Amino acid sequence: MQEDDVAFWGPSSIEDFTVKTAYDSLVGVQDSVSSLPWVRIWNWYGPQRIKTFFWLLLKNGVLVNEERRRRHIATNAACGMCGLYMENRLHMLHDCLDARRTWEGLHKFCDLEWFFNPSLHLNDWIICNISSKLQAGSGVKCCTIFGVGCWNIWKKRCGFILNNERLSPESVLSQTIIMAKSVEDARMTTIVGERVPRQPVSVFWKPPLSTMLKLNMNTDASLERGTCHAYGGGLFRDASGQWRQGFVTNIRVCSILLAEIWCIFHGLETAKALRIRLLEVESDNLVAVAMIIGKFEVNISCHAIVEKIRSLLLEFDSTLVRHVHREGNSDTDLLSHHAYNFERGVHVLEQPPTDLAIWLLYDRLGISYNH
Ligand SMILES: [Zn+2]
Repeated sequence: MQEDDVAFWGPSSIEDFTVKTAYDSLVGVQDSVSSLPWVRIWNWYGPQRIKTFFWLLLKNGVLVNEERRRRHIATNAACGMCGLYMENRLHMLHDCLDARRTWEGLHKFCDLEWFFNPSLHLNDWIICNISSKLQAGSGVKCCTIFGVGCWNIWKKRCGFILNNERLSPESVLSQTIIMAKSVEDARMTTIVGERVPRQPVSVFWKPPLSTMLKLNMNTDASLERGTCHAYGGGLFRDASGQWRQGFVTNIRVCSILLAEIWCIFHGLETAKALRIRLLEVESDNLVAVAMIIGKFEVNISCHAIVEKIRSLLLEFDSTLVRHVHREGNSDTDLLSHHAYNFERGVHVLEQPPTDLAIWLLYDRLGISYNH
């Protein structure tokens, strides 16, 4: 039996006409959809803003100087970092001496399979690296390092040109590795079947060694909602956990990072006035601590105050500056909220506020909290 002829649309698997299949056949899309560059970008696991950055990059929508000149919004196409060559996408991410130094550092950490292949076109270079299945050290994927590395190089360039921020290639390198690790941690906790239960860390107040007085500081949650006015506080305890003195400070409108650093500064000045010679300084702001001890590049806005803190620290016989988890610093957090009731400046407290007493007792008893 012969059936009548039926019209159907060949490029479609369901034989019906669709605009998408018409477009694909017109532009000659032959490969499976997974090979398309934007699919590779969306399949890359990482922050959405980095995916958007790569999408713009492939579309030539990132405003490097060459592109800005082409659009008549700049007259000079030279690289803003080295000034030696034209700033195009490849130069910005791959060829500029500054970017190259970062990649050389990253290359030691992770074998970037396609990185030094000079024959690849920029778009292919991006797609190959972002799709790499290679694994770097500590379980971090090379494609994660590559994606985050490109983003940080671009951010550094923007920070330098727009805000005159100067970050060394080593800082970009460490930021990239830290960020890539957190991206991987997030990936592991979201992939079904690969959920890794986070082991809680027990946090408790640790008394200082013998006569060494301990200074806790915390300005967390001390930005007034709406105004961003910063407040802080700190307290001094001896080896038995007894309150020796405290202070609160009404700072000014500033960032939380700067407020934490100002708090450490005021704490050190108070300690000096108390004639304390041996001191442990604790803050729950990791970046502030890392900046002071030189493990993190100091922001230009914090530079002057961090320098003052470093020279103040030298005036003590012995000091130790370290990070504590927020849960182990909750009494100082509470104290910092009392600063809301004080005028601008630093105010010494001889006695602890009444609502703080129970928290000080918990610390003396060694009660721990999960982080
Ligand atoms: Zn350059």
